[in-house]
Amino acid sequence: MTKGETKATFSNPGYPLVENRVQAEIMVFVRDEVGSVSRAKLTEVLGVSRSKVSNEVGRLIEAGLLVEDGLAESEGGRRSSLLSIPRGAGVVAAIDLGATSIDVALTTLGSEILSHRSEPADIRDGPRSILGRVKLLLAQLLEEQDSKAQDVLAIGIGVPGPVEQAAGVLRVPPLMPGWDRFPIRDAFAGEYAAPVFVDNDVNIMALGEHWGGVGKGVDNMLFVKVGTGIGGGIIADGRLYRGTQGCAGDIGHISVDPEGPVCTCGNLGCLEAMAGAPAIALEAERRAREGKSSVLADILAEKGELTAVDVGKAASLGDYEALNVIRRAGWIVGRVLATLVSVLNPSLIVVGGGVSQIGHSFLAEIRSAVYRRSLPLATRNLPIVLSELDQTAGVTGASVLAAEGVLQVQ
Ligand SMILES: [Zn+2]
Repeated sequence: MTKGETKATFSNPGYPLVENRVQAEIMVFVRDEVGSVSRAKLTEVLGVSRSKVSNEVGRLIEAGLLVEDGLAESEGGRRSSLLSIPRGAGVVAAIDLGATSIDVALTTLGSEILSHRSEPADIRDGPRSILGRVKLLLAQLLEEQDSKAQDVLAIGIGVPGPVEQAAGVLRVPPLMPGWDRFPIRDAFAGEYAAPVFVDNDVNIMALGEHWGGVGKGVDNMLFVKVGTGIGGGIIADGRLYRGTQGCAGDIGHISVDPEGPVCTCGNLGCLEAMAGAPAIALEAERRAREGKSSVLADILAEKGELTAVDVGKAASLGDYEALNVIRRAGWIVGRVLATLVSVLNPSLIVVGGGVSQIGHSFLAEIRSAVYRRSLPLATRNLPIVLSELDQTAGVTGASVLAAEGVLQVQ
């Protein structure tokens, strides 16, 4: 089973791209190595006979999924040739939809980003408008790369809400009119023969960070996105853990304060409503209006509103109230993470999303809350760090999801 662990049933002819389990394992290993691999290494790692590996590698080369590119270093004897995934195998379309952004990238089948475009957007414009823009961007990127729709081997897409895995649709996403049960996969069916894999945006960020970021090689990891919304992605035993329906890790609506502000989901005092970007902005506005911070009040007077980024700027100028607002949000997020640490016992927590960038004190408060509120044994060796891939975590993960999906036999 591959890391994305999507159980797709393929109606498209030519899929999956591999014929059997050994071919799938060969492709997964070559992808993981992100470079060139020798047949001898494959024989050793997969535990199948040399002739079986040679035979299946031959078929993969014939299919254009592998290519020989150079010779391995050898300690005497015949040097063996190295295998890698060629650019000519085709491309993967990787899409990351946030509440306020569209990211589209083209990657190789080895999940190496070839080109990437990011645009501001409002997810509330609805699926027809947003997916229309996605398809336009995708067509532009393909043209720039001298590729055609037929060259797209797989499409991966992350969306900012709970995704029912079996159907690949969003289910009752807060504040996303028109997206509930919208058939996202079908939106690409006219132009692309490639299968479409849909998942939650934070799940794909977790996959991306685990694939090529600070979480590479880490078997038990928690990824937390703090932006307009707040969500979590869980890597357990080296794989994305989705739970029964696909919404494991959806921590944004955990109750933090039963008497707190109204959340987009209708409940009171959810984590997201207490510590997401809009909550940080509102809290700062309140303090500015109460005359607690002249720096925040000046920005508010000039712009008519505050954003989380403004609060970060005010804090970097040394404004005490702005710093307190950021610390408060970090502390609230950290307390929820402390609970998750007790449940999951991860060896790494990665914090990403726009709010993670508003200042060091945010991460410092998260660390402080987690270290104080979790069992000493669970935090003895628990780094809490910022996302390394940051802006590209989502598209990287979308590529991983899709590429592993089409290289998997049922
Ligand atoms: Zn909520």
